[in-house]
Amino acid sequence: MLAIQDLTKIYPNGTHALHAFSLDIQNGEVIAVIGGSGCGKSTLLRLLSGLETPNTGSIALRGRILKEPDALVNIVFQEPRLFPWLTVAQNVGFGLKHLPADERSDIISQVLARLGLGGFEDRWPKELSGGQAQRVSLARAIVTKPSVLLLDEPFSALDAMTREDLQSHLIDLWQDLGSTLVLVTHDIEEAVFMADRVIVMRPFPGRIFQDVRIDLPRPRN
Ligand code: ADP
Ligand code: ADP
Repeated sequence: MLAIQDLTKIYPNGTHALHAFSLDIQNGEVIAVIGGSGCGKSTLLRLLSGLETPNTGSIALRGRILKEPDALVNIVFQEPRLFPWLTVAQNVGFGLKHLPADERSDIISQVLARLGLGGFEDRWPKELSGGQAQRVSLARAIVTKPSVLLLDEPFSALDAMTREDLQSHLIDLWQDLGSTLVLVTHDIEEAVFMADRVIVMRPFPGRIFQDVRIDLPRPRN
């Protein structure tokens, strides 16, 4: 479904961030990518999202080579990146502008309610706690039903309770969406808790060290 072939990334300053990274990801799989600082996890996600281009290699989604940011691939970063001049509803609806207004606001309200943010539509980002803002980021990323959702340490800035809450919300939503998730984390427990498969990376240059299948029942709300 997502075919990652031989990706190499060398930044202009000469840093060899990723070397010959290849991975085939099945439809609906949850992949966790773990490894110490500097082993190329964020670089991998930036390449998959089209925010950076590789020096060599290719990324194909259902046989189609991706060369630039694609509407079917969304990314959530460690810190919420909301547009401060837009309300919660406007932030979440950003990728839905092609829909009629009432259909759009129904979809927005549904996804906000699923994430425990019913009634937050007209708030401004600065009126949200960190966990709430991250849930809005997640809502914005899933509302367009992407085939691939990339998550770059999305929970690491949150306190433990908010983190567990959001982890189970995400698994719950993922089960409805059928999206493929690629979750970057440095938390082994989170990786094993959430993923079907854990990719362990090593640095200098960043590459796959282990590819481990996890056979645990999925957490549920
Ligand atoms: P991780 O997310 O695993 O911590 P990164 O992908 O951020 O790793 O970084 C991999 C390597 O590439 C590190 O050595 C880092 O310093 C370097 N790096 C990351 N981004 C850039 C950049 N924009 N320019 C130069 N080097 C970078
Ligand atoms: P950054 O985090 O990148 O520094 P800011 O959050 O400061 O960005 O805001 C980016 C831009 O949005 C700035 O030009 C700022 O003046 C503007 N801005 C921030 N909050 C609001 C708001 N509530 N209404 C309108 N514009 C805003």
